[in-house]
Amino acid sequence: MSGGVQPIRGMNDVLPAEIGLWQHLEATLRELVQVYGYEEIRVPIVEHTELFKRSIGEFTDIVEKEMYTFADQGGDSLTLRPEATAGIARAAISNGLLRGQKHKLWCIGPMFRHERPQKGRYRQFHQFDIEALGYEGPDVDAEMIVLTGRLWRMLGITRVRLQVNSLGTPASRAQYRDELVRYFRGHEAALDADSRRRLDGNPLRILDSKNPDMRAIVAGAPSIVDHLDPESRAHFESLQRALQSAGIAFEVNPRLVRGLDYYSRTVFEWTTDALGAQDAVCSGGRYDGLIAQLGGEATPAIGFAMGVERVVELLRQGGVGPQVRAPDLYVVAQGDRAGAAGLALAERLRDALPGRRILYGLGGGNFKAQFRRADRSGARFALVLGDSEIDRGVIAVKDLRGDAQQFECPMAEAHARLEAVLKE
Ligand code: ATP
Ligand code: MG
Repeated sequence: MSGGVQPIRGMNDVLPAEIGLWQHLEATLRELVQVYGYEEIRVPIVEHTELFKRSIGEFTDIVEKEMYTFADQGGDSLTLRPEATAGIARAAISNGLLRGQKHKLWCIGPMFRHERPQKGRYRQFHQFDIEALGYEGPDVDAEMIVLTGRLWRMLGITRVRLQVNSLGTPASRAQYRDELVRYFRGHEAALDADSRRRLDGNPLRILDSKNPDMRAIVAGAPSIVDHLDPESRAHFESLQRALQSAGIAFEVNPRLVRGLDYYSRTVFEWTTDALGAQDAVCSGGRYDGLIAQLGGEATPAIGFAMGVERVVELLRQGGVGPQVRAPDLYVVAQGDRAGAAGLALAERLRDALPGRRILYGLGGGNFKAQFRRADRSGARFALVLGDSEIDRGVIAVKDLRGDAQQFECPMAEAHARLEAVLKE
C-alpha cells in the first residue's frame, strides 16, 4: 500500500468474509449470559491512567510497558483500557451501584495493549467479560467456571483445559511473599532483569514469567497452596468439590498467579493446545480487595475475561460456525422503467416476505451482466423485469440453483407465488 495510509500494527480489520464467526460467537455469548442472568454494562474505552495503575498494579506487564497512555488537550493523563474489570469496578463506584447490592454484569469490546504483535496477540483485541459484584463465593466462583464450560459445549470447542489456584488473602499472601523473596534471593544471579526488578515490587509476578530461562527456578519455588489461611483453604476446597460434582475437569496449578495484582483467593485459566504460544483463552479470578482499594465500599467480587480473537480462531480451526446465508431473491431489471419498478418490487417483497434476503441488482447494466452478478451472489431465484414484462404487468422468475422451469406471474401475485416456491 505504498503512499497510502497504513493501518496500525497489531490492530485488525474484521472483514465481511470473517465476520460470520464473530457474530456466531457474540450471539452464543448473549444467549449464555441470558441463561445465567447476567446484565450488560458498557463502560468507556478511555479512563484516567490512575485507575489502571491503582487496580492492575505498577509491577505488571500491562502497567509497566503495555498501556496506550496520552495527555489529552486539558493535560489529563488518559489511557485506552487494557482490560475491562477496572472500568467496571470504577463504574460501580461512581454510579453508586454497590451499597450492599449485588450485580452480575457482562460486557464485550475492544482492549488495547502495546505488545509485540503476533498470531493471537494484538494491540487492539477484544474481550468478553463477566463480573459478579457483591458475591463472596465459593458458589459463584464455581458457577462462573461452569458457565465457561457450558460455552465451550455450545460452541463445540473441545481442546481446552482448566487450571485453578488460590492466592489466599492479602495477609496469607504477605507471608508467602516473604518466603518467596527468601527463595528467589537465594537464586538472584539466575533471575532475568524483569524478575530482579519484581523481587522488590511484587515477587509473585516472577511465577508468571514468560521467559523459558526462568522455568527451572520457578518450578523449585515454594508453593502458595501450602501457605493458605484456613478460610481460603476451605473456600478453595469447596470450589473444587463443586467443580467435581458439576463434572468439570480441572487441574490445580500452584504457579498460576495471573497477570494482574488485584486477585485474591480463586484464580483460574482456560488454556488450549490448538493455538501455539498464545494459549490462554479465558482467565479470571476473585478480587475481593479491588473495589475498596479504588475508594468504594468493601465488596467481594469475581470475574473473568475471554480473548475473543483466540476463541474465533478455535472456531475457525474446528470448522464450526454459521454458513453464510445466500440471498433468496435477486431482482434483475433492465431499462429505466423496469429499474424503478424493480426497486419498488424489491421493497414490496421485503414487506411481504419478512426475514427473506432480497437483493436488487444495483448498478443496472444489460441482462447478461446482471445475471452474472445474480448468479455470483448465490441467490436462489432471479426476478426478471424488462420493458416487455412491465408492459404485460408480470415478472419472470428464474431458478438459479435448480432446474425448475422459468415462469411468469402477475406482478400483483408475486409475493404469494414466491412465498410458495421459496418454501419448496
Ligand atoms: P497472556 O498470558 O496471553 O498475555 P494475559 O494474562 O495478559 O494473557 P488477561 O489480561 O487475563 O491475559 O486477558 C484475558 C484474555 O484476553 C487472555 O486469556 C487472552 O485470551 C486475551 N488476551 C490478552 N492479551 C491479548 C492480546 N494482546 N491479544 C489478543 N488476546 C489477548
Ligand atoms: Mg499479557
